[in-house]
Amino acid sequence: MKNPEATFDCIVIGAGISGLALGFFARHNGRSVVVLEAGPVAGGKIRTQWEEGFCCEWGPQGFLDNVPETLELVRLLGLQGRLVQASNAAADRFILRNGKLRAIPLSPLKFFVSDVLSWAGRLRVLAEPFMPRANEEDESVLAFARRRIGKEAADVLVDAMVTGVFAGRAEELSLAATFPKMAHMERTYGSLTRAMFALRRKGGGGPAGPGGTLTTFQSGMQELTDALACSLGTALRLNTRVRGIQYRQGPPSNWVVHLEQGETLLGRHLVVTVPPREAANLLKDYLPPLVLADLQQIPVPPVVVVMTAYRQSQPFAFPLSGFGFLVPSREPRQILGTLFCHSIFPNQAPPGTVLLRTILGGARQPEVIHFDDHELLRLVRRELHAILGGDPDPCLVRVFRHPEGIPQYTLGHPQRLQALDQALAALPGLHLTGNGYRGVAVNACIAEAKKVAMLLA
Ligand SMILES: Cc1cc2nc3c(=O)[nH]c(=O)nc-3n(C[C@H](O)[C@H](O)[C@H](O)COP(=O)(O)OP(=O)(O)OC[C@H]3O[C@@H](n4cnc5c(N)ncnc54)[C@H](O)[C@@H]3O)c2cc1C
Repeated sequence: MKNPEATFDCIVIGAGISGLALGFFARHNGRSVVVLEAGPVAGGKIRTQWEEGFCCEWGPQGFLDNVPETLELVRLLGLQGRLVQASNAAADRFILRNGKLRAIPLSPLKFFVSDVLSWAGRLRVLAEPFMPRANEEDESVLAFARRRIGKEAADVLVDAMVTGVFAGRAEELSLAATFPKMAHMERTYGSLTRAMFALRRKGGGGPAGPGGTLTTFQSGMQELTDALACSLGTALRLNTRVRGIQYRQGPPSNWVVHLEQGETLLGRHLVVTVPPREAANLLKDYLPPLVLADLQQIPVPPVVVVMTAYRQSQPFAFPLSGFGFLVPSREPRQILGTLFCHSIFPNQAPPGTVLLRTILGGARQPEVIHFDDHELLRLVRRELHAILGGDPDPCLVRVFRHPEGIPQYTLGHPQRLQALDQALAALPGLHLTGNGYRGVAVNACIAEAKKVAMLLA
């Protein structure tokens, strides 16, 4: 006799942080849930590997401790005592400018005496409050920054910030989709400077978002996804790829999910958290062709992480105390930046050693995904030699490849989301979330997952 079909309030596809958090919040709200993950492990981009006392993060290094949904999740999982904040030394950040690392000034006064920009560039930043507001609905991050703070500051500082967050090109990304708070500040206060002073008086943060401290867990980021997986128990099914999806108007359920193993599951709600291209593939029979094309066109260029460790406290000429450095695209270099992991989180490397995490790829250099490990190491050593001075032999090298790295919210992204929302409104119980839509940071994935979980009545 055929097995009866299992029925759930909610079927979640994908067990990265988005799918895991969604499953967790939905169960917390009393819903019956199953989370389906194609791979053998949960966590998606989040994975931590400890080797010879060094903490090697495949994906995110941490999250900012200023988003209530993440802090709530941490509290509900009982992980507050496991949090580790970045050290004070990590406040010092560097940027490559004309081949030389320069400290990013931490206060307006320090900014005006620093050499991070020319005198003319610094004076142009001062003129920001007098620049007119935009008329355009969607503007690139670079165009916005050039208009407000001048070409030099935009090409150096804002370009580097976009590299740090999205591994992207500032001229291609939509301001409204990537830094909505900045667009809002200009609309509301007429100037970023005035907005910053007003928000500071209210206790808010800077133009890129509220301030916060980079935070991880004692055993690294995987501690979070392991705790979520553990809490989901048998509601999480690994090695379970979805073969097909069918809509069947309820009751009792709207969605029929066919698994590769031949099993069929029924759900009142279906939440798809996989990357946009895969989501389009799964939903090809239900979403309108234009929306499917939009999803397929959200670029997700590859990112490569090369970890190198050294059993010396000062392996390079440049002192490795601080957060790390970013490389603006105008610099003729082939890496996006390097984090000083031993300095950010001293528990992530044995005392007296150095652990570096160099990021390559993204929209600027997608081709690096095809380099083999030897080529990548050669490239990283050459670049670190040129930037930090010295070519010490690393005692440990690990390469992590993300063929689909960080989604790029290019110009038109807000309009694409609008069309997607309209299409979803016609399909009761279907939800799309994950890093492809409304924020790539771990915090954004968790906050969006909670929002969707609240809709699963
Ligand atoms: C190198 C790197 C560094 C980063 N650093 C930071 C950082 O420091 N701080 C920060 O906040 N963010 C960082 N990010 C971004 C952040 O890590 C990601 O945006 C976030 O983890 C994505 O989570 P997700 O669940 O949306 O997607 P994913 O992690 O991609 O998860 C999707 C899951 O779906 C599964 N799947 C796919 N297809 C199917 C299918 N058909 N059936 C079932 N399952 C399927 C996949 O196997 C995967 O497990 C970084 C990202 C990268 C790549």
